[in-house]
Amino acid sequence: MQLPIARRAGFVRDVEANYLAALWSVPEVATGLDGARIVGRVIGMTDLPNFFRTPAGPGWALVGDAGHHKGPLVARGISDAFRDAELLADAVLADRAGRVPLPAALRGYQRARDAASTKVADLNVRVAALDTPVEALMRDFLELVEAEQEADQRDRRHRTRVHADTREAPPAARSG
Ligand SMILES: Cc1cc2nc3c(=O)[nH]c(=O)nc-3n(C[C@H](O)[C@H](O)[C@H](O)COP(=O)(O)OP(=O)(O)OC[C@H]3O[C@@H](n4cnc5c(N)ncnc54)[C@H](O)[C@@H]3O)c2cc1C
Repeated sequence: MQLPIARRAGFVRDVEANYLAALWSVPEVATGLDGARIVGRVIGMTDLPNFFRTPAGPGWALVGDAGHHKGPLVARGISDAFRDAELLADAVLADRAGRVPLPAALRGYQRARDAASTKVADLNVRVAALDTPVEALMRDFLELVEAEQEADQRDRRHRTRVHADTREAPPAARSG
């Protein structure tokens, strides 16, 4: 669950009671949890910064939350971390195959990461603000996911071509 930061002080006076009250206030959730009991401590978080860091430089690179962080509301941090790792690996391999020098390839990694993450990060901020009707957020989220799926399919076709070209390249172009 999430609530406006302005209500934090009241909420933390009795975390467990307030948490349960919020759950029971949603009939579908209350029905689903009928007979359930809490078996651990309820843990909350307030320190969820939004940032995009420069993700690479000479001798170092960042993937996942280290390079770009957002709150977990749209539940994308794990897949974004895997995507970053893949983009970074592509950049390193492009250099190793002699296609793009490493500094340029790493700048490409940053551009690709930012292009892939910016809209999701913006949407996440809108979700966190708790002031947009949920129907509008869902519509925008679904549009975004659809666009991402199309981009992903294009990217897969591109990767298949690049990997085929790399396999066909003469050994000298692959070494180094
Ligand atoms: C409450 C919450 C709910 C979430 N829900 C979802 C969700 O439903 N779906 C989703 O996709 N994402 C979710 N996320 C986000 C997701 O957990 C993160 O985006 C993801 O784990 C990032 O992976 P990472 O490998 O970049 O970083 P991390 O998972 O943080 O891994 C970094 C690791 O490096 C270690 N480390 C740090 N410093 C050092 C050091 N100096 N030396 C050695 N090790 C070090 C840390 O201990 C940690 O194990 C959620 C996050 C939170 C907080």
